[in-house]
Amino acid sequence: MRSRFPAIALALVVVLVGEGWAAAYCRSSVCKVDGKTIHGKVCAPPADDDCGTVLQWRQPCVGFALAKAGSRQVSLAEIEKVAKVSFAAWTTIDCGGGQHPSIEVDDLGIVSCGKVEYNQHGGNANIIVFRDDEWPHMDDGGGTTDTIALTTVTYDVTKGDIFDADMEINSVQNTFTTSDTMVDVDLRSVMTHEAGHFLGLAHSTVMDATMFPNYTNGTLDLRAPKDDDQQAICNAYPPDRTPRGTCDGLPRHGFSPECQATQTEGSCAFVPASSGLSLVALLPFAALLGLARRRRRC
Ligand SMILES: [Zn+2]
Repeated sequence: MRSRFPAIALALVVVLVGEGWAAAYCRSSVCKVDGKTIHGKVCAPPADDDCGTVLQWRQPCVGFALAKAGSRQVSLAEIEKVAKVSFAAWTTIDCGGGQHPSIEVDDLGIVSCGKVEYNQHGGNANIIVFRDDEWPHMDDGGGTTDTIALTTVTYDVTKGDIFDADMEINSVQNTFTTSDTMVDVDLRSVMTHEAGHFLGLAHSTVMDATMFPNYTNGTLDLRAPKDDDQQAICNAYPPDRTPRGTCDGLPRHGFSPECQATQTEGSCAFVPASSGLSLVALLPFAALLGLARRRRRC
């Protein structure tokens, strides 16, 4: 998610729509292009550059955990509260007839590990981590970035199964607020957007959608998924889906509060890696849209 610089973001969208890019919501996908695996999207209605297999958590329940370092800006208790509400904004959507998306997101508590990683041979956690001191994704060489938060999703490149998702919040360059008044960067808006990525959604071209790639400081609008977002999550997790496995919220290879480097072999987090595991690719979603920043520098 990026800061919105009104004139720039607006101009960009007008250009894209003007070229016939009229898609609405999109789901993230994995594509093979010229033998290379790339991150793509599949939109509804379809767009010319749609490609590949859509990403989805196959199980009925997934868990998230908070990195214990928290943030100097917001207490851990408050972060936890906001995270729960942000995920619930998606999972409680009415897909018709009072039925909800067939995915549940559970709070697995606090973890020691604050690293974005997926362990193929050890326990995992889908973490939410604040970067108070250094934002590791500077993208323009000038020591700044417009990225407010970034969700990295790890998935099976052949089937699109999501294995892991980690959410990083850029609290170095943004001042987060949680109240309904005196809003700077609304944590709940940002987390709701990132929760959409966590669940496999890509950016939407609908300007008031929660999954639109830009956020305007001082606003609360992204807190509530719009019609477009609702269609996206109900398409990704239809109520009549047959999920794989039981609802335990545990990550692949077990839950581990420790990073890979400090996990102890023989601990309960260790189970043999699945032999069917294919290549996984790291997907930094928000890094795909650096346009606002580049235009601003012109
Ligand atoms: Zn985004």
